[in-house]
Amino acid sequence: MEVNGDEGNLRGVQRVVLVLSGKGGVGKSTITTELALALQHAGKKVGILDVDLCGPSIPRMLGVSQQEVHQCDSGWVPVYADPQQRLALMSIGFLLDDPDEAVVWRGPKKTALIGQFVRDVAWGELDVLLVDTPPGTSDEHLAVLESLRKHRVDGAVLVTTPQAVSTGDVRREITFCKKTGVKILGIVENMSGFVCPHCSECSSVFSRGGGEELAKLTGSVFLGSVPLDPLLSASIEEGQDFLKAFPDSATYSSLR
Ligand code: ADP
Repeated sequence: MEVNGDEGNLRGVQRVVLVLSGKGGVGKSTITTELALALQHAGKKVGILDVDLCGPSIPRMLGVSQQEVHQCDSGWVPVYADPQQRLALMSIGFLLDDPDEAVVWRGPKKTALIGQFVRDVAWGELDVLLVDTPPGTSDEHLAVLESLRKHRVDGAVLVTTPQAVSTGDVRREITFCKKTGVKILGIVENMSGFVCPHCSECSSVFSRGGGEELAKLTGSVFLGSVPLDPLLSASIEEGQDFLKAFPDSATYSSLR
């Protein structure tokens, strides 16, 4: 996708990466969060734009759900998850009076808000902006691409679980990327085996290797697999930085 001079608040953003999944519940927001934290630990400045309007879970995953966004001259100031302001987040979760409120909106209203998110968030300088999208291919995905048409979308990371029911849906995401000209950066297989909290051994719960097989079949890069880890789940629930809390875990090395 082309870059032109009229980039507004995205002027200082070096890379834009979409995170996509065919199904809900496969860990797309978890992978987005951990990817952002891993990049931040590697010294990058990272933003997350959470456009999963009906299920905004990233504020909680980063432990900032109680915070609010404020306005400045150039738009909305994102919420920072760290005092050094290296991890910025914008989510509809910050705009709702009640976090349990259901967002029941038709397409045009969602499209308008996403357009505003893309135009009006004052990201400043970022190495990477990760866009966490809803599952499937919906109005939100088209709205993101439409709003970003004046900027470059560098590609998409696809998240799947190992089973065929999930990898089958990811094939549709692959078709979506091909039709819309979004480069597929690779596939991550999440919930790939279970890490026992007592002995740390990893056993297969579902089938194994579906993500890797799909990558081979579709000529995509396989980026790696992340096991089901109760410590990761607990960290995500509590809004704790898993990579900082458990640097010795095997899951840590799969997330880096
Ligand atoms: P999605 O964004 O695809 O709907 P989420 O990222 O919200 O999925 O994950 C759904 C649930 O699964 C969350 O409670 C999350 O903590 C948990 N989860 C995701 N990936 C893992 C993992 N690798 N290990 C343990 N729990 C996980």
